[in-house]
Amino acid sequence: MIDRKRVFWFILLRLLVVSVFLATTIFLDVRTYDVGTDIAQKVLIRLMGATYLFSLGSLVVLYRSRREIRTLTYAQIVWDLILVTVMILISGGVTSPYAFLYFLSIISASTLLARSQAYYTASLCVILYGAILDFQYYGKLAPLGLSAYPAQQYGAAYLFYLIFLHCAAFFLTATLAGHLSERARRSESAFQEKAIDYEELERLNSCIVSTIDSGLLTINPDGRIRVFNSYMERLTGLSQQQAYDRPLCEAIPGLSPFERRFFDGGQGEFKHQAPDGGQLLLSFKSVPLTGKEDATVGAIFDIHDLTEMKRLAAELKRADRLAAVGELSARMAHEIRNPLAAISGSVQLVALRPWVDEKDKRLFSIILRETDRLDGLLRDFLFYAKPAQPTKIPLKLHRVIADLCALLSTDPRLERVTIENRVPEDLVVVFDKDQCSQVFWNLVVNSAEAIAGEGSIVIEACAVRSGDKKEARISVRDSGSGMNQAEVRRVFEPFFTTKKGGTGLGLATVYRIVETHGGRMVVDSEEGAGTTVTLFLPA
Ligand code: ADP
Ligand code: MG
Repeated sequence: MIDRKRVFWFILLRLLVVSVFLATTIFLDVRTYDVGTDIAQKVLIRLMGATYLFSLGSLVVLYRSRREIRTLTYAQIVWDLILVTVMILISGGVTSPYAFLYFLSIISASTLLARSQAYYTASLCVILYGAILDFQYYGKLAPLGLSAYPAQQYGAAYLFYLIFLHCAAFFLTATLAGHLSERARRSESAFQEKAIDYEELERLNSCIVSTIDSGLLTINPDGRIRVFNSYMERLTGLSQQQAYDRPLCEAIPGLSPFERRFFDGGQGEFKHQAPDGGQLLLSFKSVPLTGKEDATVGAIFDIHDLTEMKRLAAELKRADRLAAVGELSARMAHEIRNPLAAISGSVQLVALRPWVDEKDKRLFSIILRETDRLDGLLRDFLFYAKPAQPTKIPLKLHRVIADLCALLSTDPRLERVTIENRVPEDLVVVFDKDQCSQVFWNLVVNSAEAIAGEGSIVIEACAVRSGDKKEARISVRDSGSGMNQAEVRRVFEPFFTTKKGGTGLGLATVYRIVETHGGRMVVDSEEGAGTTVTLFLPA
């Protein structure tokens, strides 16, 4: 890999050197002692000028194209070699002071390219330098204005010695500079790799901290918050900036009782007030954060929200208990119904006997009424505890409600109540026919019972979309007495009733039926303002 920046600096440096050279040549009129002629001076100035242009052109190419950089670098080295050779030629050949400039070319080849290129350059230098000296010795350079006289004066042996000396020095330079720049390159790339690794680690780290599904925070030895991830922001309603440097026990007061164990692996559960006012149950675990030489420089906290888990566990436990109790009581209810039927039948028979007087008849009728009520309760209960398997069919809801209204028209509870069936005629729900009637019978009767005196019940429906499912939203709204919020929360509980003769199983059964059909329901009510029960049924 060739470093563009290095090539850039190299070209800039050469520009500077050439400028100095040009300036001294032109303004100070410095003449190297063998460049006696004006022609040589002119050639030198032109060569410098050309170098100038070449350098500027190279800079442009360097910035324009990204691919030509290797060729460009080779061109720099070759240009330098030519430049030095010409300078030596016009400044006296063997007596020229510029032979040392070859070293610079070798060094730049090793720093810009690689060690092998440094050796090639050194070889080229030897060839060029040797050729100049040889050609000068044999008078071949006389046409260029270079006389053979000084070379011949040195003698062949001395020239040979000179070439050998330069050859050794060139290769030594190539070896040394190549070695050094190779090392520099290697450590540079190692450093770069490390830097990339650190960057990646840093990114990974912050990504994990911000996305994990639990609270993560760190404190310093004074108990002040440092890291505070986004889960913690949600739990406390404080932003990272607001939390930074706050005492932990101030940001999360529930942790205060554990303060003394923060730095030696404390853990525990505590209550916490969520930003929306809800009560949360959180658990925490702290681990000391150690720095150099195992000194404690803080603590790291892992915080979990246990609220939902605890609630689910409690619910599961209750559901388990209820299931067991339900199974048992359903069997008992079944067993009770048989003797109840026998009692009721026998009492009816006894009541027909001629010697029964009026007083006994009244007692018998009480027995009959109460056994009927007991039977009704057991029937409801059995239905709740063991609902029949539904046969789901497409039902026209409007028809079902209309039939129900006809059925209820003789019911005394609905005497002064009007029912408005606003369900669209073409609305279809997938439901069991009998259970559908049962659901709306329960809802309408509840509404009717909540209305003292005159009132109305409105049944509305429309098709809605939730996600990719089609649903029917049906609401039963009454102008009855309504309920308070505590009652609303309990309406679906089995045996919850506020009525004297109520079983508290109506809405519990409705809920169960709706659930087994894949629907859901909500109750909205306000004391004195009536109640709206909304069902979402699969359409
Ligand atoms: P029950 O009708 O036997 O009392 P339900 O499960 O049908 O049992 O209803 C439970 C309780 O919910 C009722 O006792 C009543 O307090 C309340 N409730 C249900 N529907 C309504 C309504 N439409 N308006 C007011 N209260 C209602
Ligand atoms: Mg009811």
